[in-house]
Amino acid sequence: MPTEFRNESFTDFSKEENAQAMRNALEKVGAELGREYPLVIGGERIASDSKLDSINPANRTQLVGRFNKATKELANRAVEEAYKAFQTWRNTPAQDRAALLFRVAEIMRERRHELSAWMIYEVAKTWPEADGDTAEAIDFCEFYAREMLRYAGEQPLYQVAGEESELEYIPLGVGAVIPPWNFPLAIMAGMTVASVVTGNTVVLKPSSDAPTIAFKFFEILEEAGLPPGVVNFMTGSGAEVGDVVVDHPKTRYVAFTGSKEIGLRINERAAKVHEGQVWIKRVVAEMGGKDAIIVADDANLDDAATGVVQSAFGFQGQKCSACSRAIIDAKVYDEMVEKIVDRTAKLKLADPTDASTNLSAVINEKAFKTINSYIEKGKSEGGRVVVGGGSDGEQGFFIEPTVIADVKPGDTIEQEEIFGPVLAVIKAENYNDALKIANDTQYGLTGAIHTTSLHRAQEFITRYQGGLVSINGATYGSGPHMPFGGVKNSGNGFREPGTEALDVYTELKTVVINHNPERV
Ligand code: NAD
Repeated sequence: MPTEFRNESFTDFSKEENAQAMRNALEKVGAELGREYPLVIGGERIASDSKLDSINPANRTQLVGRFNKATKELANRAVEEAYKAFQTWRNTPAQDRAALLFRVAEIMRERRHELSAWMIYEVAKTWPEADGDTAEAIDFCEFYAREMLRYAGEQPLYQVAGEESELEYIPLGVGAVIPPWNFPLAIMAGMTVASVVTGNTVVLKPSSDAPTIAFKFFEILEEAGLPPGVVNFMTGSGAEVGDVVVDHPKTRYVAFTGSKEIGLRINERAAKVHEGQVWIKRVVAEMGGKDAIIVADDANLDDAATGVVQSAFGFQGQKCSACSRAIIDAKVYDEMVEKIVDRTAKLKLADPTDASTNLSAVINEKAFKTINSYIEKGKSEGGRVVVGGGSDGEQGFFIEPTVIADVKPGDTIEQEEIFGPVLAVIKAENYNDALKIANDTQYGLTGAIHTTSLHRAQEFITRYQGGLVSINGATYGSGPHMPFGGVKNSGNGFREPGTEALDVYTELKTVVINHNPERV
């Protein structure tokens, strides 16, 4: 029996042996850049005529990996192969499926820095951000394996005299797993292993911005003994082959994390019942955010400024949980802006292979242009750039951490998800006004308040419209151990991580044994 779940600890890179291990991993991975990777469908490695290149955002001429784009025909085949594999995988004992996840976690631990190095090259994560991503992926395996054992055990059920009843969790079928690029290992692995451990089979379509790390993970699944066809690795255009797997009548569910636009599109398409389809498809859609930190007039301003800057600029602001709005009580506004500016100005924007880098390039050219246009929009709507604002797209997609003050409620950059290193600072008349501004958005993922008042903290917990709220900290995402997901247009109500997570990937079967011959 495995021991109790514990989060993987983060690597302390101030220790020379750890820093050296990471440098070695970067060198090893650096020598492997630019290789070509196949599609893997039903265990068969397949090349197609059309290729897709994954490049280093911080060094735009550096090829990280070349991938084969699936055609519509291959996408259909991937679903068929997953459906075939489901007929046996669904009957594999839960204990064996859990054991597979423990093996996957063990291999990932052995290759921890190597996996992080791939993310440093492929999505420009800094050392600590990449390390955190790998740790979370390991946690997903460890946590879901234990959860599966719990789900497979006896469930509490009200018993009626003369009957004996049981509850079983059964798998759903073929899942289309569609992750984003921003937690290219943790979220991708999390949705995949949750599917597999519950007895489902998968068509994994990684983001075109992060296919290499997904392939490295897929290789680990194979090495750990996952049978062919249980996970099918399918790279390709989201718009082309994404629709094919979402629409396919043998697809039973879609596990999606990404933008609101694509999430809503998938939700709508999946609602249509196609010929031969004998179920209603389930869609799990974890989508965007416009997360806020409220700074009340009684807050510890130094702690608040640290929380704001950390959550605004960690991984270049490219987290669903990034703080993109600091809503500050007018009484402490000027002082807080100064503190935020001071901390932001100290951040080092540089190549992510350098250990001392605090933030690096944004994911791709499209994002570079969009984020810059949001900065211009912020200025044109009366915002005041108090730090940053510059960018350089020559070598890579570098945008300075940018703070725009005096943004008004309802302005474009106060309402739309930017997904980059841009913080909008808004002045609120008072605490109640701050809460009203914070809730006045279509999103509802995370939020935080800085206050020394218990009453205000309690009120914030009750009134802030978000799936996760925190007090006197950053805007948190969560690890596998804690339910996380949004309300409003940030999600459709499921909670992927945490103790309810495997509900998403299973359905219930109730078994009743009648011991009363008179009652038929
Ligand atoms: P995206 O929506 O552009 O892409 C997500 C995935 O969908 C990718 O794999 C993409 O290839 C695929 N896709 C694109 N078109 C498709 C289609 N028509 N059918 C099927 N799949 C299709 O998002 P992104 O840029 O990769 O990620 C950033 C977004 O993800 C942000 O909005 C961020 O807030 C959100 N996000 C949310 C959470 C959360 O837990 N709520 C976590 C991380 C990221």
